[in-house]
Amino acid sequence: MKKHNFSAGPCILPQEVLLKASQAVMDFNESGLSLIEISHRSKDFVAIMEKARSLALELLGLEDQGYKALFLQGGASMEFLMVAYNLLETKAGYLNTGTWSDKAIKEAKLFGEVLEVGSSKDENFNYIPKGYAIPDGLDYLHLTSNNTIFGTQLKKFPKTDALLVCDMSSDIFSRQLDFSEFDLIYAGAQKNMGPAGTTLVVVKEAILGKVSRKIPSMLDYQVHIGKDSMFNTPSVFAVYTSMLTLEWLKNLGGIAAIEEINEKKAQLLYSEIDLNPVFEGFAKKEDRSNMNATFNLVEEGLKETFETLLTEAGINGLNGHRSVGGYRASMYNALSLESVGVLVDVMSEMERKG
Ligand SMILES: *Cc1c(COP(=O)(O)O)cnc(C)c1O
Repeated sequence: MKKHNFSAGPCILPQEVLLKASQAVMDFNESGLSLIEISHRSKDFVAIMEKARSLALELLGLEDQGYKALFLQGGASMEFLMVAYNLLETKAGYLNTGTWSDKAIKEAKLFGEVLEVGSSKDENFNYIPKGYAIPDGLDYLHLTSNNTIFGTQLKKFPKTDALLVCDMSSDIFSRQLDFSEFDLIYAGAQKNMGPAGTTLVVVKEAILGKVSRKIPSMLDYQVHIGKDSMFNTPSVFAVYTSMLTLEWLKNLGGIAAIEEINEKKAQLLYSEIDLNPVFEGFAKKEDRSNMNATFNLVEEGLKETFETLLTEAGINGLNGHRSVGGYRASMYNALSLESVGVLVDVMSEMERKG
């Protein structure tokens, strides 16, 4: 039986994407060869890379505005250091909204002064700091749009003269934003775009080449742009599968269409969390993420009953991250409203039992 997959990442992908990707592994474009045994320099694969890059810009509404899309390796974690390597000359600002921002800050400190403009560490990152001041003279301000572990999401983005850099790993392509407000966006594929193994970087080309340090080739965005994201062998399977997912999203009606579905899913689950006395939410209401909903049982003693019901319903991947505990329902683009309905049914059954 196919499971209802609420895993936080790697995570659910559209069924039709999995089917096409697996077919390509056996026989790519009826070539008699597998996608993963042909040269990345072959005409067929170069076309895929180009399509993945252009679809990413198209879906974000960033075509012809000086942005380049790259598919790199090393995960979002590599971007924590590449961003600083390429952009940090003297000082940068970071909004600390959880584990991933914390890790980004740690890397950036190797390259220059880092100012934490705001932090929600005091309450185990269950909210998004607001009303913080952004100092003048920053090389860039770094934000994390969605905090995968804690289940919070930035609803408003600060206005600043500094360059705006954003880790959108867990909510890219999930909601409409004015993406042109950002100078650099990055996202590990495995949350909302594809399998693990590649990272999308969308960068305004004009901001690069300004730092005085020398940058090793593999860490230099300009090198990757110069080689059309083929400086070295890319993750061919991850790029292909990401391209299929972006194509799926485009056919569905793009970000506007998926945002509507994502809002329905989130409303359905959060209203159950709020109305059902057996459960309590973790994140502050106004900062709740539409992608990752974190919640707990009010009484730990009901854990076994709840988890048995989850298993019986075919629900997978609901365990919370170890730093929060409890449960986390990740509702990425490919998760259906129906799957959220199944979870909500189990939760209401808990209320009847409890
Ligand atoms: C998962 C995640 C990361 C880390 O991604 P890797 O690809 O494992 O390096 C970074 N930022 C956010 C917001 C994430 O959700």
